[in-house]
Amino acid sequence: MTSPTEARAAATASRRRCVGVNIAGIQVGGPAPIVVQSMTNTDTADVASTTQQVAQLWRAGSELVRITVNTPEAAAAVPRIREKLDMMGISVPLIGDFHYNGHQLLTKEPAAAEALAKYRINPGNVGFGKKKDLQFSTIVELAVRHGKAVRIGANWGSLDQELLARMMDENHARAEPWDAPRVMREALIRSALDSAERAESLGLARDRIVLSCKVSGVQELIAVYRDLAARCDYALHLGLTEAGIGSKGIVASSAALAVLLQEGIGDTIRISLTPEPNEPRTREVIVAQELLQTMGLRAFTPLVTACPGCGRTTSTFFQELAKTVQDHVRARMPEWRVQYDGVENLTLAVMGCVVNGPGESKHANIGISLPGTGEAPAAPVFIDGVKTMTLRGEGIAAEFVQILENYVAEKYASKAG
Ligand code: SF4
Repeated sequence: MTSPTEARAAATASRRRCVGVNIAGIQVGGPAPIVVQSMTNTDTADVASTTQQVAQLWRAGSELVRITVNTPEAAAAVPRIREKLDMMGISVPLIGDFHYNGHQLLTKEPAAAEALAKYRINPGNVGFGKKKDLQFSTIVELAVRHGKAVRIGANWGSLDQELLARMMDENHARAEPWDAPRVMREALIRSALDSAERAESLGLARDRIVLSCKVSGVQELIAVYRDLAARCDYALHLGLTEAGIGSKGIVASSAALAVLLQEGIGDTIRISLTPEPNEPRTREVIVAQELLQTMGLRAFTPLVTACPGCGRTTSTFFQELAKTVQDHVRARMPEWRVQYDGVENLTLAVMGCVVNGPGESKHANIGISLPGTGEAPAAPVFIDGVKTMTLRGEGIAAEFVQILENYVAEKYASKAG
């Protein structure tokens, strides 16, 4: 039987070999860890709000941030956003997302072309008819001139219709025609691969190219990426497009990406969540991190193991404590990350009663087992598997957070000294 440790090691060791791409200091592909990226939903022409959201995404842990560049005003805003971020000490690379008019915007705003670290081109939306090749080559040549990376991001919501029509005709001529979904998948992959080949013929090096082929169905995404990964050695951007809102978006993205990541496919991921009303944009970053961390592929932030609660505990106190602890850890992580080596590997448990509480708490670095209904009002705390103290009364949450702070300061080596 394969142990969890062996499964994690296998997922890491089986990472598909690909050409690494350096995006302004962030390595995607090659031997580098899987990179988390996100995208803003502000009007890029609004420099203040876009800068603020990029900063929020970066603070949450996004290692690359993509912004829409769709108008001359948005293009003009890009270098100003970059400048403001630099002044704030935020070096996160910016990726420009272009559709239809990227060739014009990048030509007319050389400062934007320079400020961006990567250009995202959708081969289905780069232009139509005779203009398509010229517009594609203009963007690629600008990327070569400015020394930038390019993601060729095909999407089946905007598949190259000329290519699809050609492939449908080819399919009719087959002795045994494929079904329509297979032709669509092949068209998506061919769109990305043919565009990458063309970009290389225009002088863009392989180590400047990232590919993606996004679809919105879980099984379709798995099928497309398995095929794409087998047919090229470009670095791959992985994500389910239009994943959806709330738990549906999280579950669908996790289901699709987990299968592919376990097979070693994917060098950078984005979770395309539709934010719920008033939900912060940073949710997509946290989900991406939690996906990689729960699979054991990377560690970002200490995670809290908590039980779901049941009839043995009528109190919601343990749920509130679990949230308090997880929120505290996330809030402290930007500082801890700078101060303490390895703190992201810390494990925590907050449990609701004596049934699984002590056992689960002993598996964590720090665990607390709260009293269930009818149990004595005492909460034993376990540190590295050993019952160390018992908390009682109104101040349990504050005391537990202080225990956590003390543990981090003592256990993890200070980077300062
Ligand atoms: S630990 Fe206790 S309260 Fe939590 S789910 Fe298990 S039995 Fe229920």
